[in-house]
Amino acid sequence: MIFILPKLVITLAARKGMMIFSKGNGKESLRLRLWFLLPLAGALLLTILFIVLSIHRHVDRDLDLNAEKIAKHAEHLYQEGVDSSASMLGAVMEVLATNQKLQLALAHRDRAQLLQRSASLFAELRKKYKITHLYFSDSNRVTILRVHQPARFGDVIDRETTLQAQRSNQTSYGVELGPLGTFTLRLVTPWFDANGHLLGFVELGMEIDHVMRAVQHIGNVKIFVLINKQRLNRKEWEDGMRMLGRLPDWERLPEVVVSNQATEDMPSELAQGLQERMQSEQEVMEPVVVGTSAYRATFLPLKDAAGRSMGRMVMLLDVSAQLKEASRLTRESVLVGGTAFVILLGFFYWLLGLVGQRLEQDNQHLREMAEHDGLTGLYNHRMYYLQLEEEFMRRSRTEAPISILLLDIDHFKLVNDRYGHLAGDMALKTLSELVMGSCRRLDMACRYGGEEITVILPETDAEGAMEIAERLRKAVEAYHFELGGSKSGHITVSIGVSTSSESIRSSRELTESADHALYHAKEQGRNRVEHVNLLNAE
Ligand code: GH3
Ligand code: MG
Ligand code: MG
Repeated sequence: MIFILPKLVITLAARKGMMIFSKGNGKESLRLRLWFLLPLAGALLLTILFIVLSIHRHVDRDLDLNAEKIAKHAEHLYQEGVDSSASMLGAVMEVLATNQKLQLALAHRDRAQLLQRSASLFAELRKKYKITHLYFSDSNRVTILRVHQPARFGDVIDRETTLQAQRSNQTSYGVELGPLGTFTLRLVTPWFDANGHLLGFVELGMEIDHVMRAVQHIGNVKIFVLINKQRLNRKEWEDGMRMLGRLPDWERLPEVVVSNQATEDMPSELAQGLQERMQSEQEVMEPVVVGTSAYRATFLPLKDAAGRSMGRMVMLLDVSAQLKEASRLTRESVLVGGTAFVILLGFFYWLLGLVGQRLEQDNQHLREMAEHDGLTGLYNHRMYYLQLEEEFMRRSRTEAPISILLLDIDHFKLVNDRYGHLAGDMALKTLSELVMGSCRRLDMACRYGGEEITVILPETDAEGAMEIAERLRKAVEAYHFELGGSKSGHITVSIGVSTSSESIRSSRELTESADHALYHAKEQGRNRVEHVNLLNAE
């Protein structure tokens, strides 16, 4: 097909001499164009649509994968940060556990000794390792001393880390949510005396904002921590925020508060956008649009040591550049696809115009051949009867008379014999031209057969038909026919005329009576006109 098409185009274009768009506006061209161009346009439009959708699907999938990768990376960083901080707390705890005097003080619940022996150590730990909590509590989890807050003691600690240490008699650690919505990593170790009796629990704690900060350093990502309101006491939280010099906004979002720990402030449109998407359980969400930037949000659930949900870490990947690139790609594809679309449609419009025109010409030619006689160009025998029938049908409406002439060349055999058949053909052709020349616009000249010609004369009575026949006869008689080479000569015709009447009401009857009149004309010596009515009158 690919090879045939250009050849066809060249052939058509060459044949027609580079016709442009104005050509081929006929019915065939229109039909072909509708048949081909509509499905083609549909297919092309679908292709462009498919390309655009593919680009979007591809970009979407890419962004999803990227967001998921970042979420995994963040989760890994967070977990690693928590674990390595816990290891550090564990190492400090091991060093503390070697301090016999501290152990003795705990065994005696000697607050003064505990404070004296741990205060400077704690100050150093706080300074060097950002350890913010050092607690001593007895075997029933009743606090003996909070080194950073000695005045507060005697309460029972029922945090999961301590409960776990009590249950397992082993060191336990985990992240706990503080009343200010901060996350504290706590490590609790049970201490035993030489006989294996439980002396109490020692707890080390530190804020994990450095972990949050490390997560935040993943390129192109904004991180926010949202804390479940259910896990906070509003008053404590608001007081705490004020104490830290921040304006508490408990009502900003319905179910969560935005943690101030290691995060920048969250723009309000973003908070709104996120809130709407928070209802969904999906981990990766539809892009949130803020001004000219678009973000894809991923959530990391944050659980405390007891496995309870504290909130979510929201990672916002800035996808503005990728979306811009995608829309650029889409624009370019539509432009290229659209141009190809227009060129292709234009080309096929032109080509189908040519093909349609060619078809129309061929059809016209076939019609001509089916209706006309090849030698004389007159209507053929079949068309004679068709036209005459049509005239009779028309006559039944108008009542106008129809006449016909049946014309036969006199002694035509002799012409053939004397000058040859080719000369005879030439004479027949010339005669046909003479007949056509003497016809009115309405009249129809037909080759009835051999050298017999009929002329249908619509709306013509006997008198008018006789006049025309006589004029024709004289014209033939007077004409010098070329009969091959330099020879020429005269020929004559006999004409039978017939007109429709009460008794002649069909094409067959009309033709038969004209034939009858012709026979008489021949009998009366040829080169004459006879009308069937006049014969009947005789
Ligand atoms: P008549 O005056 O009685 O009509 O004598 P005629 O010789 O013309 O006799 P007729 O009409 O019976 O003869 C028809 C002749 O016309 C026979 C044939 O040789 C010739 N003829 C018919 N059709 C053609 C044609 O297409 N070409 C040529 N050259 N001759 C034809
Ligand atoms: Mg004849
Ligand atoms: Mg004849």
